[in-house]
Amino acid sequence: MYVAISLDIDPDANSAVEGRHDALSSPIEQGEIRVDACKKGLQKIFDLLDIYDIDATLFYEARTAQMLIESGIDLPKLSERHEIACHSLKHEDFLGKVSGIPRNEKSIDASIGKAKEILAKIFGREIKGFRAPYTRINRTVVKVLERLGFQYDSSETATLGTGWAGKPYPLEAFDSSLMELALPSFRDAKGKKMSSYLWAIFEGRRVFGEYIDAAAQARDIAKGGLFVFSIHPWHLYVDCKGNQFGKDQARKNLENLESIFSQLKQVQGIQILRQDEYLEAWLGKKDSN
Ligand SMILES: [Zn+2]
Repeated sequence: MYVAISLDIDPDANSAVEGRHDALSSPIEQGEIRVDACKKGLQKIFDLLDIYDIDATLFYEARTAQMLIESGIDLPKLSERHEIACHSLKHEDFLGKVSGIPRNEKSIDASIGKAKEILAKIFGREIKGFRAPYTRINRTVVKVLERLGFQYDSSETATLGTGWAGKPYPLEAFDSSLMELALPSFRDAKGKKMSSYLWAIFEGRRVFGEYIDAAAQARDIAKGGLFVFSIHPWHLYVDCKGNQFGKDQARKNLENLESIFSQLKQVQGIQILRQDEYLEAWLGKKDSN
């Protein structure tokens, strides 16, 4: 089985807001967008990825990338070994689930097109992957992604074992042939549902061992498939409501994350790679069959 480490690089504790298209940092009453915790967390994660020699996939919200660069960090250099992918322009609520204002095709096209352009310019690379804000996509978003030349989406969640073995699949449900590299959902030792987003770890509700066990378990079900982990860098330092973690919790978060990286490297039969590399290899194998 293959494992990808993906980061959703977006504003601290971001939340969709009723009546506006873009996201704000929590508490939304302050009307602010902050990236301080994102910056601090991202720098720590870059260090760890280097220490453990892991190439990751970075889903950048274009506005956040711009803000991080303005804050003085050399994002292109720090991101050099990793895949650059797109996580929208301003974390738009495209479907209007919370904002109450669903976007039409033209405006979705304008937002994602601009985001892709900004990222391509900052990083000087081709942007192949997309992950939607709140991981919400629909027919219109998928159509736009296809038209803008994306090679894959990575927003859907699929349940491992119920007919899905971690393999890429075309988004036929949206009348599209765009490939999906879905996020896995699975069960812990007690049968409780788990997701590969590391939310629960950073909120102190799960420990690293549960994720390592899950990956080891998935190895047999998802032979040749991809198990995508997801991390919000800001979540090392603030909770979903925007409260700063105390020193102890922040230290625990870092230790948990480091343990995930170090232990994943040691699990037999698991290879860690970027999502674009996995897709390329998978498509190549399919063609030669
Ligand atoms: Zn996000």
